[in-house]
Amino acid sequence: MVKKSIVVATSEFEAVIFDCDGVLVDSEILGLDASTAYLRDHGFDWSPADLVRLFTGFRDDVFAERLTKAYRDLHGVDPNTDFFSGLVETRRSRRHLLAPVPGARAAIAAMRTPKAVASSSRTEFLVGKMKRTGLYDLFDPHVYSADQVAHGKPAPDIFLYAAEKIGVAPEQCLAIEDSENGVKAAYAAGMTVWGFLGGGHCFEGHGARLTAAGAHKVVKDFKALGVALS
Ligand SMILES: [Mg+2]
Repeated sequence: MVKKSIVVATSEFEAVIFDCDGVLVDSEILGLDASTAYLRDHGFDWSPADLVRLFTGFRDDVFAERLTKAYRDLHGVDPNTDFFSGLVETRRSRRHLLAPVPGARAAIAAMRTPKAVASSSRTEFLVGKMKRTGLYDLFDPHVYSADQVAHGKPAPDIFLYAAEKIGVAPEQCLAIEDSENGVKAAYAAGMTVWGFLGGGHCFEGHGARLTAAGAHKVVKDFKALGVALS
């Protein structure tokens, strides 16, 4: 358990910085069952909840590193490129089903506080996902990807970059995150961070893990977030 800093009163937040996947767009649940089956075919005995715990919130390169290590530990050799391309294709085949997290559009549209997106997703994918779900215009131009900074989450770089772009000190920002990795990044940036459980992938115990990672508070959905910020 990390040591908690003092939580800033909600009225004192000067900006809100949102993660994208699993907070704004319901992408983490998409293809989770198919990915679990694919990995099971390759020898991994992981449940959908295990995949969320082990792999959500990472930049592509870090995800690939972690999965490569797991593959090597299991099989004694590195995976070939077909292994990764097959997994990517499994996920992409569900792309047309992508939807906003319930309540996201209305809640974001109603927010008058300056806001930004700080995501691990690559810029081209990030912009595509936000445009397809009608969320991009609500943040434009403050949509930022970890491929614009040196280090991906859990390093604080992308949160610090987003705060700088909107001209608000990190300690005056509230970050909304659904992954342990993302919570650690926002916490390391000196922000108040709230764990968010409104995505379809948040299984039992997820809130407790976000709290253990450093979240000052956990909100279950956009309705609860709106109440907490009012
Ligand atoms: Mg996320």
